[in-house]
Amino acid sequence: MTEPTKIAVVGSGITGLSTQWFLERESLVRGIDLRVETWDPRPSAGGNVRTLSRDGWQCEEAAESILNSRQETKKLALELGLGDRIVQVSPLAKKRFIVWRGQLRPMGPQSIFGSFPTWPAKLRALWEPFVLPGPEDESLAEFGSRRLGRGLMEQIMDPMVTGIYAASPERLSVRSAFPRIKAMEQTHGSLFAGLLAGRKARKSLPAKERPGSGSYTFQGGMAELARSLADQVRGPVHSQRPVHSILREGVRWRLNTSDDRSELFDQVVFAIPAFDLAAVSGFPSELLADLSKLPYNPVTVVGLGFDRSRVAHPLDGFGFLVPKIEQRKILGTLFSSTLWPHAAPAGKVLLRTMVGGGRQPELASLPDAELVAMVCQELSDLVGLSGTPEFVHIARHARGIPEYPVGHSKTIERLQSALKGTGLHLAGNAWDGIGVNDCVAAALPRAKAILERIDAQEV
Ligand SMILES: Cc1cc2nc3c(=O)[nH]c(=O)nc-3n(C[C@H](O)[C@H](O)[C@H](O)COP(=O)(O)OP(=O)(O)OC[C@H]3O[C@@H](n4cnc5c(N)ncnc54)[C@H](O)[C@@H]3O)c2cc1C
Repeated sequence: MTEPTKIAVVGSGITGLSTQWFLERESLVRGIDLRVETWDPRPSAGGNVRTLSRDGWQCEEAAESILNSRQETKKLALELGLGDRIVQVSPLAKKRFIVWRGQLRPMGPQSIFGSFPTWPAKLRALWEPFVLPGPEDESLAEFGSRRLGRGLMEQIMDPMVTGIYAASPERLSVRSAFPRIKAMEQTHGSLFAGLLAGRKARKSLPAKERPGSGSYTFQGGMAELARSLADQVRGPVHSQRPVHSILREGVRWRLNTSDDRSELFDQVVFAIPAFDLAAVSGFPSELLADLSKLPYNPVTVVGLGFDRSRVAHPLDGFGFLVPKIEQRKILGTLFSSTLWPHAAPAGKVLLRTMVGGGRQPELASLPDAELVAMVCQELSDLVGLSGTPEFVHIARHARGIPEYPVGHSKTIERLQSALKGTGLHLAGNAWDGIGVNDCVAAALPRAKAILERIDAQEV
């Protein structure tokens, strides 16, 4: 009897788990005898996707929700039988606010004729269709200022970048972080033309294929997706098993942990952050410089719960983001209990505030009591909060989100071409995109490509 092909997935975050799921599923379709197992040092699977549930409060430690604009994660959730566990964001959370001159301003069509964004910023943006395309890659700040003007860059794009990447727009690559926006410039010559073309293309799709708006979670929070994956994959998902080193043995790879566990695999998928990968001894040393080029920003999530009567603002939206020029000490706050009424006990509100990022990394490591006091002070100014919180949960991500530097796409090409044919594969938010959807969407074609090569060798 021949042995099954063995694949190790290193890292049991959403990327690692969905990679294992797709490898197993696709191997059945192709009739490949495959054993996949996942190794991770943490006590439970899910990586950054973690949900705390306590006394009727449900607070996300990282990702709050998954966008409806792409369908890959939803399809996966349906395969896992989670269809009736999906919770769509409340219609009360439609509005999005940006802080401007110390106040929350709603974004959207109504703001086009209002006083925010400022009139000089809006008028400058009208020039956008006449701006010539720029270089292949540049920072988001350069791209935004060049195309839309500094006003819109500072008032709108800066807080939006902070909301997604907690990054500094002066360093973040537009091509890697916002490939669709860069593609609009390259294909249509301007963002306005690109938006119009996108709208037309969407309209021409049958209604059920049109990308949706809003976002969703699960009744048990985002962790439910990870838990369900870990429970339903065929092969084992090992916890407390950090990969410490790898060693080539013939055409296979030996994986070792620091406590002397060791096993041979035909292929290895690394679904771990770049800095963790750089610490795995035996990984091709000529690639270490490229791995360490990728900076990560610290983000601390401060979840605070209050009686509804303690917050003056109607909290009638998704939350607010803060532009750098407002010089505040928080990056933004999500009105979590407006998004998901089940996230707080009746009559209470849950607010989740992000601190630190590329803008103020030092604030992310403040001690708990100082953080809570600082966030309460900011929320008191911005949403009329009073009193002390009834619920506090702080989640620290010391190196939370990768900040793709200008030229990141070239780094990825170099790494991928160097690893071609070695049996080692790179996966995860360092390379695939930051959103849960990006991580899941990249996992399926990667699994198929790995199996195709196995298939070809076996023939
Ligand atoms: C504060 C915050 C808010 C976010 N909000 C959203 C959001 O609202 N929506 C959204 O779509 N995305 C959001 N994201 C991004 C999204 O959560 C992540 O990009 C995604 O979960 C990354 O998954 P991953 O599997 O690639 O990596 P990770 O979740 O980082 O998992 C990597 C795993 O690798 C393991 N590992 C590390 N070293 C080793 C080793 N040597 N051996 C074995 N295993 C190892 C780690 O223990 C970890 O479990 C947010 C992220 C953060 C931090």
